Parts: sequence; C-alpha cells; structure tokens
Amino acid sequence: MSSNTKYIFVTGGVTSSLGKGIVSASLATLLQSRGFSVTIQKLDPYINIDPGTLNPYEHGECYVTDDGAETDLDLGHYERFLNQPTSQANNVTTGRIYQSVIEKERKGDYLGKTVQVIPHITDEIKRRICLLGDTGRFDVVITEIGGTVGDIEALPYIETVRQLRWELGKNCLSIHLTLVPYLKATGELKTKPTQHSVKMLQESGVQPDILVCRAEYPLSDEMKDKLALFTNVTKDAVFQSLDAETIYQVPLLLRDQRMDEVVMEKLNLTSKRASDLSAWEGFLERLRFPHHEVTIGLIGKYVELKDAYKSIAEALIHAGAQNDTRVNIEWIHSEHLDPVHVKERMEGLHGILVAPGFGERGFEGKIESVRYARENGVPFFGICFGMQAAVIEYARHVLGLTGANSREVNPETPHAVIDLMAEQKAVTHKGGTMRLGSCACDLTPGTLTHRIYSEAQIHERHRHRYEFNNDYLTSFEKAGLIPAGINPETGLVEVVEMKDHPWFVGVQFHPEYKSTVANPHPLFVDFVRAAAAHAKA
Ligand code: GLN
Repeated sequence: MSSNTKYIFVTGGVTSSLGKGIVSASLATLLQSRGFSVTIQKLDPYINIDPGTLNPYEHGECYVTDDGAETDLDLGHYERFLNQPTSQANNVTTGRIYQSVIEKERKGDYLGKTVQVIPHITDEIKRRICLLGDTGRFDVVITEIGGTVGDIEALPYIETVRQLRWELGKNCLSIHLTLVPYLKATGELKTKPTQHSVKMLQESGVQPDILVCRAEYPLSDEMKDKLALFTNVTKDAVFQSLDAETIYQVPLLLRDQRMDEVVMEKLNLTSKRASDLSAWEGFLERLRFPHHEVTIGLIGKYVELKDAYKSIAEALIHAGAQNDTRVNIEWIHSEHLDPVHVKERMEGLHGILVAPGFGERGFEGKIESVRYARENGVPFFGICFGMQAAVIEYARHVLGLTGANSREVNPETPHAVIDLMAEQKAVTHKGGTMRLGSCACDLTPGTLTHRIYSEAQIHERHRHRYEFNNDYLTSFEKAGLIPAGINPETGLVEVVEMKDHPWFVGVQFHPEYKSTVANPHPLFVDFVRAAAAHAKA
C-alpha cells in the first residue's frame, strides 16, 4: 500500500441515483485544479463480470476504456471531468472479485484454507482498491461504492472500507451522499432518512467524515446543526448538493461551499497551487449562454432511456459549447421510422446522428434516416452500427445491391457489405470478446476527416464484432463513398465519407468516449459546426 496516496471512499444512502458519480468527479476536479493528480474508481456490487453483457435498459451505456475494458458509464463522467483516461482498474464488480478468488482457489493459492467472504473476498477488494494508489501516479484515489448502504450485496465493500480506514488512519476519508427529501404537505426538508442512513453505516463500523445531502431546497443552518449532532459529522463538513442546471456546474457549487478545503484539511493535504478553474468556468459560460442553436436528431432504439447514449449526449454538449451553440437533441426511435414517416420526423433537423447498437430491431429505421440525410444534404454522423447502416444504405440505393445487409442482421444476405471477421467466427462466449479498446487508424489525406483531425494517425476506441467488407471497397469508392480511415495493421476500413455531400461521415469506432470538457472531440465539434451552417442555409 503506497503510504503517500490518500484514499477517499464515497458511499450512498437512502436511495440510489443520487449522483455519486458526479459528486466524485466534481470533488476530483476541484482537487485536480489545485495541482493534485487524482483518479476515480467505481466498485459495482453486481455479479456480472462487467456491464458488457448488460442490456442498456438495465444499466445505460457501456463505457469502453483505451485498454478495452467494458465499464460502468460513471467512468465516462470521470474522464470527461478530469480529461484523463481510465482503465480496467477503475471499474471492478463483485463478479470480477469472485472470479479472481475462485481462480486462486483452483490454483491452490489458499493452501488448503477455507475460502470465505472475510478475509478472502474483502482482501481481494482491498487489493483492487490499492492497485491504483500503488502505481505511485496518484496523490488521491477516490473510490465510489455502487448501490446503497444497507444493500446485502454491498456489505463486503463496506467492511473493506472499515478495514482500510483502520489501516490508513489519516490518509483516508469517508464521504456519505444522502437524500434530504422535501415534504410538500408540510413544506419542510426532512433529515431523518439521512440520520438512519448514517446509523446504518455506523453499525458497519464506518463513521463518515463528510456528508453530502442531495436536496431540492437549500439546507438551513439549523438543519446542518441537527445533522451534525445526530451523525457525528462536524458542521463544516455537511454539504448540500442542490439540483443543478447542468452536471458541469456541480464542481463550482461544491467549491462555493469550500468542500475541497475541508477535504484537504481532513486529509492533511496542502494545496500544490492556487485553485484555477477559469477554463472550466469559460466552458460553463459558453454552455449556458450560447448565441446559436441547432437541433440534432439522435436515431437509436433505446431512446426512452437517455442514459443508453450518455457519452454521445455529453460529446454534443461539449461540441455545442465549443461552437457557442445550444444543441437540442431530438431523440428519435428508429423502430418508428418507415419510408412513409421518415420525412415528417426528419424535417427541421439540422443534423442526423445514427447511434451505435446491436441486432435487428429498429435497424431498417436507421437505414431510412441515413437515406434521408444522404438525399437531402443534411449533415450525417454515423457511429459504429450507424456507420454500418450508412454503408448498407449506400450499397442498396446507390450501388443497387438489393438485399445488402450486415451478416448480424440477416445471416442469409446476398451482399454482406458488413461481415464477421475470421477471428470472430470461432467466438462463442459473449463477454469481453468483441473488438474492444483503442486502435490506430491512418487517415486518408485530402478527406474531410483528415482535415478535421489534422493528424495523419489517430487512436480511437472500438466495441463491435462486425466490419466493413473489403470485397466491396472498390465498388463503394467508384460510387463516391470513400474510405477516409484505415487500420494500419488489418487494412480494415474505420471511416467512410461521402464525396458529394456537405458533411457525411461514418466511423466504425466510438469517438464519443474520448470527448471531454477540456478537449471536445473534433468530429463532434465539426459536426455541430456543419449542423449550424445547415441551419443558417
Ligand atoms: N452491432 C454492430 C457490431 O457488432 C455494431 C456495434 C456497435 O454499434 N457498438 O459490429
């Protein structure tokens, strides 16, 4: 265990979905602005090895890191706030913990001992928590425990926090995030749920050092006194987290309450430099008070659950701020798009973004929306399955290849312009077996994409099984859909763009994962710029 690293644990109480991820990322941003190197880790108490096999309806977007880990969407927030990549070590599930322990048991590593939750599971959790600190790269590691205090499945994690607090002493801090609900009938905020939640944490041997109370209205001074008295948390360490206009305001709201100073004092840390959030504030200013406005249609099949497209929505926000433009997203269900209704749904959009996805449901609707964008000169951005839809649409309606499809959608298609690669054919296990993580891509000089990146080689993250089928490459090129990015190792087409169109780009990778507040993604920035130009015209 690295003696210089400080550990902060963030637990949640009363209900889930209070925004532990945003509070963690915001605190990290404040500490980073004072010169500390900070990373955030998420521990998820469910038994899946990772969220890669989870339906987006269950868990929202699956976020992919450079090293190809399929992770919780909170890691996206960590990267977007801190402008710093995460890795597999930043997301651990109960499934992964048990998998390691069981593998060790099979190898005989426990030397005949009975393997138990305590100490073996808790030791493995501890090892995973300290892994990041042990790299020596971070002054502070923030560990967010998924779920809510009191959940049966969270117990081993809370016990690990208790042990680590004992072992780390002053190098460790516990933050508890709770809800202070407002009762309309009596017109008051209620602290009792928070008192109970802290009691439950204390019963497990963990005394929180800091309380963050999610509330719809400001907490009065007396309420803070009361909370302090009943939870043993000093009053200056009781913070409120009011509903914000945007998540990007949360760091500033916490800074106004001096949360970073209280954290540093409790951890015995001295600021490495004066806090500077001017770039962040500039971004917020552009985000909140833009001079222009566009509407982008986001075509997908999980649009009822906006979390399924979290990174795309955030990348559009970053790109909007960069362009001084408010980006309104129109969420369009691809299942409701047929040749008859596509026009009325697409009219008035300044840009069309076809989202990633899997399987047959709603895929024909995606193809319809590509066709509309292509024929009407509307800026089009296809991501992963969206790029594949663009290739298929072009094959059917420009190359005249009737029935062209992806082998994923129709295994019997006469023209598999999107096909399974040889190395994927033998794959039987679903988890972690797609093409995952960062790959190099050479950009074709003279293309729009090359101009946008102004780099000869880029690295972007992948998550898919199917690929552009190079048997058709020459036909596409001749017909005006050109390869703008090629994988230097495999020769696979990673980017296509259409020649005679204002802005028509399809990418096999996921640029949305790499867009951050400090570094909005160039493709999104230029797509929003093109949409704004289209709006003017
Ligand atoms: N279903 C497609 C594939 O597996 C695309 C995946 C995606 O959009 N992420 O290749």
